[in-house]
Amino acid sequence: CGIVGYVGGRASIDVLMNGLKRLEYRGYDSAGVAVIAEDGSISTRKRAGKLAVLSDDIAAHPLPESTTGIGHTRWATHGGPTDENAHPHLSADGKLAVIHNGIIENFAAIRDELIAQGYTFESETDTEAAAILLGREYAETGDLRAAFQRVVGQLDGAFTLLAVHEDQPGLVVGARQNSPLVIGLGQGENFLGSDVAAFVEYTRFALAVGEGEMVAITPDNVEVTDFAGNPVQSTPFEVQWDA
Ligand code: GLU
Repeated sequence: CGIVGYVGGRASIDVLMNGLKRLEYRGYDSAGVAVIAEDGSISTRKRAGKLAVLSDDIAAHPLPESTTGIGHTRWATHGGPTDENAHPHLSADGKLAVIHNGIIENFAAIRDELIAQGYTFESETDTEAAAILLGREYAETGDLRAAFQRVVGQLDGAFTLLAVHEDQPGLVVGARQNSPLVIGLGQGENFLGSDVAAFVEYTRFALAVGEGEMVAITPDNVEVTDFAGNPVQSTPFEVQWDA
């Protein structure tokens, strides 16, 4: 139900947890994060229950230092509120992580096709079909943006999706269809959020991602395109907020 993404110079885990905290008002049953460490490896942590369950777990078993990550609060639609069903979901090789708000209507057809190709699933979610599919497309393209573009074009339903890959640290990609996504613009850092509350603590400069658009953020760049990859002009706005 809530989504945060970060690339920049700060400890990503702090930005993600603060953002998720500010999105708590929307309600959720589980929470999780994926961070890319300085050595390029990806780590995930996800727990059913309140954000405090996740933050206690991370405090007890810290994640590696990282300046790129994604965070999620889940309101279960497909599969119960368990640790396994919490997001992020990983590709088969474990190198990329996906978070998702919404419902992928055609997930069963995608999952059946992937199972027929020998892939296995660890959760009951619709989201994991997108994660495994993204891994398959990455293996063919070797590029997160290209793979992501292929995947979003195959999904029906409502989704805000974010993904990170350990071979492309410093990059977060996102897309939206019938579900919200906003970019927060910083200096040497950029943010993604399902609403501005996710990053308003760090920046008030934002860019709206339009319906049917994708975005790629790095610390110094933001690129918005349609699902066909054509560049899109988006209008910056300043968030009015009494924090
Ligand atoms: N459909 C997904 C799930 O059940 C995402 C739910 C959400 O929007 O949090 O895991």
